[in-house]
Amino acid sequence: MAENKIPYKIYLEEDEMPTAWYNVRADMKNKPAPLLNPGTHQPMTAEELGGVFCDELVAQELDDTNAYIEIPQEIRDFYKMYRPSPLVRAYCLEEKLQTPAKIYYKFEGNNTSGSHKLNSAIAQAYYAKKQGLKGVTTETGAGQWGTALSMACSYFGLDCKVYMVKVSYEQKPFRREVMKVYGASVTPSPSMETEIGKKINTEHPGTTGSLGCAISEAVEVAVKNPGYRYVLGSVLNQVLLHQSVIGLETKAALDKYNIKPDVIIGCAGGGSNLGGLISPFMGEKLRGEADYEIIAVEPASCPSFTRGKFAYDFADTGMVCPLAKMYTLGSDFIPSANHAGGLRYHGMSPILSQLYDDGLMKAVSVEQTKVFEAAEQFARVEGILPAPESSHAIRVAIDEALKCKETGEEKTIVFGLTGTGYFDMVAYEKFHNGEMSDYIPTDEELAKYAAKLPVIE
Ligand SMILES: *Cc1c(COP(=O)(O)O)cnc(C)c1O
Repeated sequence: MAENKIPYKIYLEEDEMPTAWYNVRADMKNKPAPLLNPGTHQPMTAEELGGVFCDELVAQELDDTNAYIEIPQEIRDFYKMYRPSPLVRAYCLEEKLQTPAKIYYKFEGNNTSGSHKLNSAIAQAYYAKKQGLKGVTTETGAGQWGTALSMACSYFGLDCKVYMVKVSYEQKPFRREVMKVYGASVTPSPSMETEIGKKINTEHPGTTGSLGCAISEAVEVAVKNPGYRYVLGSVLNQVLLHQSVIGLETKAALDKYNIKPDVIIGCAGGGSNLGGLISPFMGEKLRGEADYEIIAVEPASCPSFTRGKFAYDFADTGMVCPLAKMYTLGSDFIPSANHAGGLRYHGMSPILSQLYDDGLMKAVSVEQTKVFEAAEQFARVEGILPAPESSHAIRVAIDEALKCKETGEEKTIVFGLTGTGYFDMVAYEKFHNGEMSDYIPTDEELAKYAAKLPVIE
């Protein structure tokens, strides 16, 4: 009976919202490896990083010791417009699956950008504004990050230059135009405006671009234009820090009803939503206060955790960014053209990579047709059209719930529902038309990319 007391949606009051982000690095015995200068292979200093990133964000990037970092009031005020995000008890999905498992999801799609990315975009824009900068540059693939950043920049009156992977720029006009609504300039990448763009266009005529290439362009423009810095929407320690708001809210909501999750699941592209969701739970695990099973879900066509190497690698194709030690498939790796489910980045957050290497979390890979099946199953009972990325987590949450059905275990499962899929209907269309296939790279292919990893003494 006590069960019935748990509402469909657990909200927090405004005064229950987090006032500080949680920095999981403070509780890690093995800290994530430092970023290295790509030329000298020495750890990047704050001064070097300051040429590319805002000063306050550099401090956050390098901070391995402070467990809590106050969320500035201006950011908390902005968060209040769309947060707290609901923690939903998936009663309807449980019923549909006939599982004894209790399923919860934290829904981050309740804002115009349609994903969790706004949580970090607003923080990064705030620090850029506070430093008196004119604007920021960034890359975007499908456009979620670019949209979030455009919103954040327009809120603080900053210029926003987005380099959008050319194939997406041409095939995904809607998100491109949303960015323009918020006043951003959107340039297809590779462009002829940067040295690296010209080089790539010359060497690979007709190329449709890649994330790694767009990153190189955005960094080049930030470094060459006074008053500009580069910002990134995932992978970096600072981004996981900002995204900890997801996990802190989730934990506060669960604590209200004394719910303790057994399994926590999230999709992993660069690792920011998963890192944010699990941070406070991982903190407890690291301090020996509680134990949780934590599962990262990645596409079988871009399997950084499950089939990548834990090594220093370039973050971008142009090799201008610092080197990061992470689970990686190699910076030249691009998922096969039929991959429609997002989560395409070749590397993974250094924090999550270290935690995974230390055995503190698991990872599984799933094929995209199975992901879209789960997406539709979920949409039909829970009333939310999920993003393909988020649906990776749905897939594994359903699989875990079905296992409970077999064993009779009443596990509590929490997963991150990172966003909505309204701009991903071409992918859904492919799925409906039976045009979606599951490409899994061979060991030989992966070995070819891994062989090009930089050698670090
Ligand atoms: C960008 C994105 C992701 C993946 O990014 P992470 O940094 O791994 O969290 C997942 N879901 C949605 C909806 C996204 O937009």
